[in-house]
Amino acid sequence: MHPNPAIALENQFCAHNYSPLPVVIVKGEGVWAIGDDGKRYLDMMSAYSAVSHGHVHPRIRAAAVAQIDKISVVSRAFYSEPLGNFLKTLCRISGFDSALPMNSGAEAVETAIKAARRWGYRVKGIAANQAKIVVADNNFHGRTSTIVGFSSEPDYKADFGPFCDGFTEARFGDIESFRQAITADTCAVLIEPIQGEAGIRVPPAGFLRELRALCDATNTLLILDEIQSGLGRTGKWFAFQHEGIRPDALILGKALGGGIMPVSAFVADHSIMDLFDAGSHGSTFGGNPLAAAVGLEALNVLEDEGLIDNSAQLGHYLVERLRAMNSPAIREVRGRGLWVGVELDRDARPICEALLAEGLLTKETHENVLRIAPPLSITREELDWGLARIERVFGQL
Ligand SMILES: *Cc1c(COP(=O)(O)O)cnc(C)c1O
Repeated sequence: MHPNPAIALENQFCAHNYSPLPVVIVKGEGVWAIGDDGKRYLDMMSAYSAVSHGHVHPRIRAAAVAQIDKISVVSRAFYSEPLGNFLKTLCRISGFDSALPMNSGAEAVETAIKAARRWGYRVKGIAANQAKIVVADNNFHGRTSTIVGFSSEPDYKADFGPFCDGFTEARFGDIESFRQAITADTCAVLIEPIQGEAGIRVPPAGFLRELRALCDATNTLLILDEIQSGLGRTGKWFAFQHEGIRPDALILGKALGGGIMPVSAFVADHSIMDLFDAGSHGSTFGGNPLAAAVGLEALNVLEDEGLIDNSAQLGHYLVERLRAMNSPAIREVRGRGLWVGVELDRDARPICEALLAEGLLTKETHENVLRIAPPLSITREELDWGLARIERVFGQL
């Protein structure tokens, strides 16, 4: 039995919608997460990219503390100081005109769905309540009842229906399937450029370019959910830059909160964003001064500290080293930047437990895929430390 009462308390009083590994994390320092027994774990999960900057980044912490000492929550019934600056920087980096700030990723996806439908009715001229959005199979866009309704994962939706109409599924990476799914009533394609929760699935080269051309030819918006893939995770600011395309709108979250708090945004040009008028959409906490101060510094740190180049370089190295292990248990190593899925011939959970004992935090996704996604601030030495332990665990299988 683990001696820490936090485990029993959480098991008794918290809903059982997760099955955590048996470790209690009490502190974080950069790429390290520290357990209640003082043991230091290399965090190779970084909270699904939410901790891309590392834990308690000193600059982001300082920005948060300075803002807390002034004011944290205003509501957008009034103007506040940090919001405009934050979104100006976000627009410069993403290359769009305007952003709508929210909190969780799922809320930003919901914002995108509303924007796409309004555009469908008011610009494309789709008949009332007929707009369709084409999504990919094995997608992950969050957990609201609308979003899980168009998920293909039975666990996410069992007995949560009835679900919302207006979504059509196509096969990820298969342009013909998207061509068939798009009709005159389609307002948008909503897709992850690389599917994270599905197991770091990278589509065939050229797929996004073909999808961009297909959307152009059919007057359909291309909306990319880069909540997990964006902000440097793949070795570029955004995954779409690997294919040299530009989406019509972008959904960001996770790392936008600098490892401190939830910050998300829907980002687009005026032609789409200005379809939101006063009263049409909102969020009590969205764009609050604390979130804006944290989000701005999160972007500045990615830029100033070269974290995106680091992700590209060390990501390449990580994939090479994992492939060179030549473990018979490994079917495929895939990914971009410091975002790697190791597909196994067996359940990944026991391997996550063995890695935990070695001092590594990882997490399985879809039973047989081991996800390796450390903070983008990881050094070569720290990565080597982790790889030595991964090699040891796989060597003993
Ligand atoms: C995590 C994630 C979401 C949902 O974000 P939450 O903050 O958990 O609501 C949506 N889309 C993608 C691609 C994600 O990885």
